[in-house]
Amino acid sequence: MNDNDCLFCKIVAGEIPSKRVRETQRVLAFRDINPKTPTHVLVIPKDHYADVADLVHADPELAAETLAVAAAVADDEGVTGSGWRLLANSGPDAGQEVFHMHLHVFGGKPLGPMISA
Ligand code: AMP
Repeated sequence: MNDNDCLFCKIVAGEIPSKRVRETQRVLAFRDINPKTPTHVLVIPKDHYADVADLVHADPELAAETLAVAAAVADDEGVTGSGWRLLANSGPDAGQEVFHMHLHVFGGKPLGPMISA
């Protein structure tokens, strides 16, 4: 399943370049183009789902695999011990910009408070 107008579908297809760090048959992890922390990796299902709720309702096994890849990325990046943060923006109040479900993996420095005031 693929959306022709979706930026991350184009990254999955290789039509837009990305720095891939880990990949399974159904999940892709690549570096965020505008990293907010030393480790800032996006983990996405290769099939197109708009957000977390969409993915979880349609394919809970794929949601679990996406989460497992995020944890593996944290390991690869060497931040499992120092600490890391997983973030999924869903919808306007969260400021979601790309409507292809993605997990942000942040780490590599103290990450501060969970949410800014
Ligand atoms: P969100 O606000 O959760 O939808 O996050 C979208 C993220 O996608 C942002 O952190 C962007 O920096 C990132 N992003 C946008 N375009 C690209 C790209 N071509 N390659 C990698 N990351 C991107």
